[in-house]
Amino acid sequence: MNRPMRATLSLEEAADQPWDVVVVGAGPAGGMAALLLSRRGRRVLLVERSSFPRDKACGCCLNEAGADVLRRAGLGDVVDSAPRLDQLVLRRHRSEIRLALPGSVCISRDVLDTRIVEQAIAAGVHFIPSCSARLLPDNGDVSAYRHHGL
Ligand SMILES: Cc1cc2nc3c(=O)[nH]c(=O)nc-3n(C[C@H](O)[C@H](O)[C@H](O)COP(=O)(O)OP(=O)(O)OC[C@H]3O[C@@H](n4cnc5c(N)ncnc54)[C@H](O)[C@@H]3O)c2cc1C
Repeated sequence: MNRPMRATLSLEEAADQPWDVVVVGAGPAGGMAALLLSRRGRRVLLVERSSFPRDKACGCCLNEAGADVLRRAGLGDVVDSAPRLDQLVLRRHRSEIRLALPGSVCISRDVLDTRIVEQAIAAGVHFIPSCSARLLPDNGDVSAYRHHGL
């Protein structure tokens, strides 16, 4: 597991700034959204309720389309240094089929998710781990926000 990542600013500092986008969750979807929005000039805050990196149950198989997305985002080194996956074997009794997995690789989520967030931070995204987000109704009580560990 990579070393824990630190917040790039405090929650109090984050509250004092105007954000174009707050992205909730630093999985591949959130990390990539934050990265791409920041590259388009948006002020982006990315929050993650877990300390980061966090454990994530996953087979860690990335197909060719996913690998291409990462390459285009400047994360080609992560893809190209990962072990290749050639085929998926399905067995039942004495039968077996092999499905080709062209261009697929195996990347641990620890490495993948961390590298995406690091790339996002390098692009100007601010990141706060150990921070839960909650949507409130219009007249909601701000004290309902819970903040852990900072
Ligand atoms: C057992 C298993 C095996 C899998 N194997 C594969 C595989 O081999 N290949 C593949 O491509 N896909 C696989 N998947 C699917 C893959 O894990 C998901 O598609 C992927 O994780 C989705 O990414 P995400 O960023 O949308 O969500 P996630 O990776 O789940 O990230 C969401 C993040 O949001 C955070 N969060 C949630 N709510 C809040 C909140 N209120 N405030 C702050 N943070 C919050 C969570 O802590 C989490 O870190 C597998 C899934 C499972 C369960």
